[in-house]
Amino acid sequence: MTPRFTPGQLHVHSGLDDMMATARALRAVGRKIALVPTMGALHDGHRQLMRTARRLPGTVLTASIFVNPLQFGPNEDFDRYPRPLEEDLGVCRDERVELLFTPSREDMYPTGSEVTVDPGPLGRELEGAFRPGHFAGVLTVVAKLFNIIRPDYAVFGEKDYQQLTLIKKLVRDLNHDVKIIGVPVARDTDGLARSSRNAYLDDDQRTAAVTLSAALAAGARVSAGGAEVVLESARAVLDKEPLVELDYLELRGTDLGPAPSRGEARLLVAARVGSTRLIDNIQVILDEGE
Ligand code: AMP
Repeated sequence: MTPRFTPGQLHVHSGLDDMMATARALRAVGRKIALVPTMGALHDGHRQLMRTARRLPGTVLTASIFVNPLQFGPNEDFDRYPRPLEEDLGVCRDERVELLFTPSREDMYPTGSEVTVDPGPLGRELEGAFRPGHFAGVLTVVAKLFNIIRPDYAVFGEKDYQQLTLIKKLVRDLNHDVKIIGVPVARDTDGLARSSRNAYLDDDQRTAAVTLSAALAAGARVSAGGAEVVLESARAVLDKEPLVELDYLELRGTDLGPAPSRGEARLLVAARVGSTRLIDNIQVILDEGE
């Protein structure tokens, strides 16, 4: 169809110009692009995103792998973040990714980064309160990927619920011409949300980490009792596990504003287990708590 693109094969572009040219050529022949942005160390959660993207009609399944320095704080795990590129290429082939963008830090931020995207007030709450600058880093790289690739669809996980919410606001407020699709949290059989960071956990920490999803499930189970009951039940489960150091447990509305007294809400948790920071969330249908 174009000199650069053979349907059904994995094409890997590191250069921004190459990636832009291929995306432009695909658009010119009427193909749509479905993008799955990632930081690599691909696991089943990423596979679910790819499968969702692949089902969108008429699209070229496109992924990106870039460990974005801008979204890591100075004392966070940027240097030790796993980068198993060969395995990731295997996952991409397996999931029939056709275009993979793997830019370098130098190409993405040739002059550092002076102009960034301000995530607004929600960017300073929840995760943003514990990771200052994190969401400015996330939204900046996502805006750059949207400008380079110009996808028709972009698929993100509900695992990072606040990130997904802020990306929807980014698209709305800055008029990006892309449809955002959210995918439910992929979990191990014991409930632990899949994460590239789970690789940091030793056996005891891995066992303790399950407490996060167990607490959320306990909260969701008593949702008919109202907000206080939900929070107390979840909190009681977390309190029993000494290896879990809680950063926050909060109940919010689906847009992460204040929780309604009844109807759909989101229960969100963040905690440290050893030096590993973990997050998770679950949908809760609240009743009046009478
Ligand atoms: P990351 O590579 O951690 O930046 O994640 C890339 C994308 O995969 C983001 O949209 C995440 O929300 C999504 N993701 C990561 N883990 C999961 C999971 N367990 N379930 C669903 N989506 C996930």
